[in-house]
Amino acid sequence: ANFMRVIVQSLPPIEGAGIGVELLCVVKAVLKKIKRRVLVGDKVLVGSIDWVDRRGMIENVFQRRTEVLDPPVANVDHLLVLFSLEQPKVEPFLLTRFLVEAESTGIPLTLALNKCELVDEETLVAWKSRLRSWGYRPIFCSVESKKGLDSLAFTLRDQTTVIVGPSGVGKSSLINALRSNNHPSDAAADTNWFEPILGSKWYEDQRVGEVSSRSGRGKHTTRNVSLLPLSGGGYFADTPGFNQPSLLKVTKQSLAEAFPEIRKKLKASEPAKCSFSNCLHLGEPGCILEGEPLERYPYYFQLLDEIKVREEFQ
Ligand code: GDP
Repeated sequence: ANFMRVIVQSLPPIEGAGIGVELLCVVKAVLKKIKRRVLVGDKVLVGSIDWVDRRGMIENVFQRRTEVLDPPVANVDHLLVLFSLEQPKVEPFLLTRFLVEAESTGIPLTLALNKCELVDEETLVAWKSRLRSWGYRPIFCSVESKKGLDSLAFTLRDQTTVIVGPSGVGKSSLINALRSNNHPSDAAADTNWFEPILGSKWYEDQRVGEVSSRSGRGKHTTRNVSLLPLSGGGYFADTPGFNQPSLLKVTKQSLAEAFPEIRKKLKASEPAKCSFSNCLHLGEPGCILEGEPLERYPYYFQLLDEIKVREEFQ
């Protein structure tokens, strides 16, 4: 059976029942029948509650604000793009790929650079101004020396965040550092969430029989996603979001929008516009960006080429 853990956020006044209690729920058959999926992060309506055994049944799913990423998580408010300054060093093109992928979701993002205790002040200052020219104000942090963790916790408070970035930059370490030590069930009695909804926070999806194209062998995958409560309020989804930015949602026309420095330049020159309405800013006559010294232009061109090739073969 497919169980989901649901945290009670609001209740009619029933004695013996509590906000913050965790219920193990099955999904009502009719929802499955109409193919209404329940995702981690969904707000749901629970009925048939057994307070003693802490069981219930999910009877309906409230409308989602967002649904993103793989495995899917509902109602993600924030993406945290995490890289490290050393071990591994920032690769600017790889960082750009992650940022473009994150921008293309339309979800607000924060860029953080970890392991800042491994570099000197000069390097920090240089990265700060470089990333500003890309249109970002990064948070420098170090899980090791606990620097910047308060700013991060403040930025992420009361939101559901997915953290993305390459392997080894400190994503798991950061999640552990910002996690609340309290189990939600312990802490929740004094919370004052009174939305007329319940929050689902756990999802088990056992997919059997997927075939891996490399080995050709059957694969048995279990994908668990959890929302982990943060000490400052809010949640981290413990899914990698994406490890390999595929840029599949980015089109030739939308790519420029995923570069804040290009986006801002185009906006700043309004009402003047490029002569061609479908200008790709590749040196077309009458392009607003002509002669602009943008550091990431070469990356923009490179990604544009990649997207063109993909679109031609689609
Ligand atoms: P993930 O692959 O992104 O989840 O990275 P991990 O959290 O597994 O961290 C990779 C390695 O970096 C581990 O050995 C961590 O101890 C180390 N690490 C994490 N944060 C820091 C930091 O702020 N400074 C230093 N020097 N090492 C760190």
